[in-house]
Amino acid sequence: MNVRPEIQAMAGYVPGEQPRPGEAIKLNTNENPYPASDKVFEAIRAACETGLSRYPNALGEPFREAAAEVYGVERDMVLCGNGSDDILTILTRTFVGSGELLRLPRPSYILYKSLAEIQGARSEEVRFDGHWQLPPKFAQPKEGLKLAFLPNPNSPSGTVIPKRTILELAEQLPCPLVVDEAYADFAEFDCVDLVAKCEKIIVTRTLSKAYSLAGLRFGYLFAQPHLIEQMVKVKDSYNCDALSIAGATAAILDREWRRDNRRKLIATRTRLIDGMRNLGFCVPDSQANFTWNVHPTIPHKPVYEYLKRYGYLVRYMDYAECGDGLRISVGTDEQIDICLKLVNEAIR
Ligand SMILES: *Cc1c(COP(=O)(O)O)cnc(C)c1O
Repeated sequence: MNVRPEIQAMAGYVPGEQPRPGEAIKLNTNENPYPASDKVFEAIRAACETGLSRYPNALGEPFREAAAEVYGVERDMVLCGNGSDDILTILTRTFVGSGELLRLPRPSYILYKSLAEIQGARSEEVRFDGHWQLPPKFAQPKEGLKLAFLPNPNSPSGTVIPKRTILELAEQLPCPLVVDEAYADFAEFDCVDLVAKCEKIIVTRTLSKAYSLAGLRFGYLFAQPHLIEQMVKVKDSYNCDALSIAGATAAILDREWRRDNRRKLIATRTRLIDGMRNLGFCVPDSQANFTWNVHPTIPHKPVYEYLKRYGYLVRYMDYAECGDGLRISVGTDEQIDICLKLVNEAIR
């Protein structure tokens, strides 16, 4: 059959393992261990009562209005998506044509590469230095360069590029810089206010991590209105459904829930970092809801397998020339204590 050659050639993005509910303790895909705000479920129930016979609002206006209020931006600077993966797809399709170039750091979120491949575009990975900062090469203009992705905090490291550096990178780049803030809710700063100042900065967000709503599928971005206008042409007409718009709107308006959840996860993150360092792992300071754990001598894969045998799933990542390691999501205190105990047994 005539499948496009670029599709046949690609490996395809492989998401983390999703066992059946109750089958394992999931510390592998950075989901939130706590249930979402009650207000989310109330809003979804209320939306059900209204019925689902009508199409939803095509732009997710209730959410845009809420996000504008919470972040102090104009609502026409917000675009809603079916998870932030949808948002990243819309961005790639808007800016990167066939044969053109997309830039990303390495190691980081591998989906960006797949998005370029689907477009028939090329991608270029620029390696982080030993301190998880980016060399000037990341911002250098290059023939065909149309978009750069930068997760901040980064995955798998949990580390951040300072805000002034982000602005400098954007100013030097010849194309938009997408700051993927999937984990910014757990960080000490974010770049939302840079969007109004610099046309080239686009900030993406998700409710999957910090709002405990990975199953709802809702993400969004901030960009200047004239760019949003173009992206609207690219997205599916009804990319967000009525239930997710209702749930996401309630979630983002419950600032008290977000604050409490964030506080709990940051405390547990410290417990996880300290525990892994005590076991001899090198763990960079994380501003996300996971940690990147590299042991100087002990192989990582058997540790991952040992944990899995006891029902604890963490993410084993192998970045070839950049090395491998274990990415562990912040769970509850109890889950992290058991995880640390298992890691200790595995390396003894
Ligand atoms: C989890 C994640 C996303 C995707 O989030 P969804 O909204 O669930 O699609 C995007 N970027 C990064 C860096 C992530 O880790």
